[in-house]
Amino acid sequence: MASIVLFGPPGAGKGTQAAIIMAETGLPQVSTGDMLRAALSQGSSLGMEAKSFMEAGKLVPDSIIIGLIENRLKENDASNGVLLDGFPRTIAQAEALMEIEEVEVVLSIEVPDERIIKRICGRYSCPQCGAVYHDSFNPTTSEDICDNCSHHGMKRRADDNEETVSSRLKAYHSQTRPLADWYSQRGLFQAVDGDRDIELVGQSLLKVLSELRGE
Ligand code: AMP
Repeated sequence: MASIVLFGPPGAGKGTQAAIIMAETGLPQVSTGDMLRAALSQGSSLGMEAKSFMEAGKLVPDSIIIGLIENRLKENDASNGVLLDGFPRTIAQAEALMEIEEVEVVLSIEVPDERIIKRICGRYSCPQCGAVYHDSFNPTTSEDICDNCSHHGMKRRADDNEETVSSRLKAYHSQTRPLADWYSQRGLFQAVDGDRDIELVGQSLLKVLSELRGE
C-alpha cells in the first residue's frame, strides 16, 4: 500500500491534521521531527548529531534523515503505508523515498508566512498523546490538562521561538518548497487552504483523499 505525505511550512498544522487523517485512514503517523526529538531526549548519538541543526532551525543532513526513514518504514506497522509528517523536506529525500515507498498523494497545507510566527509561538502539546494546542487558537479546556487523554503537564518545543522560526521558514522556502513543483510534475501534489479552522482544513484534506480514492 502507498503512503500519504503531509506537506507545508513549519506551523502549518501538519501534526494536528495528521491526527484527523490517521483516525480516518488508520495509517500510522511518522514524524521525523518527533523521532529526532525523541532521540535527543534519550541522548542517543542520532540525537546528538541532529541537535545543533534543530536548535538553529536548519535541516538535519539528508543522509541522517534518509537512514532514519528507511529503518522506520521496515517496521511491521508500516507495511500498509504511513502518514509522513515533515518528510520529505528536500529533493534528495523525495528521491530516496521514491526508491523505498509508493506515494499516494502529497497533501499540502498552505499557510502564508505572516501567519506562521503567531501560530508557532504559543504552540504546545501533550507529551503523552501528542495532541497539539495553542495559547490563542486552540487552548486546552482546563489549563495544563490534555483534552484528549487527561494527562497533566503540557510541553513546549525548544525551537518554537521567533529567532528559530525565521530560519525554519528560510529552510522551508529554499529547500522544501521546490518539492511542490517536483510532486506536481508527477501528478501527486494537492493543496488546501490551511489558514482556516482546524476542522475545515481537516474536512478539505479528507475530501481530497476520498475524491482521489473514488469514494
Ligand atoms: P518538525 O517537527 O517537523 O518541525 O522538525 C523539527 C526540526 O527537525 C526541523 O527544524 C529540522 O531541524 C529537523 N527535521 C525534521 N524533519 C526533517 C527532515 N525531513 N529533514 C531535515 N531535517 C528535519
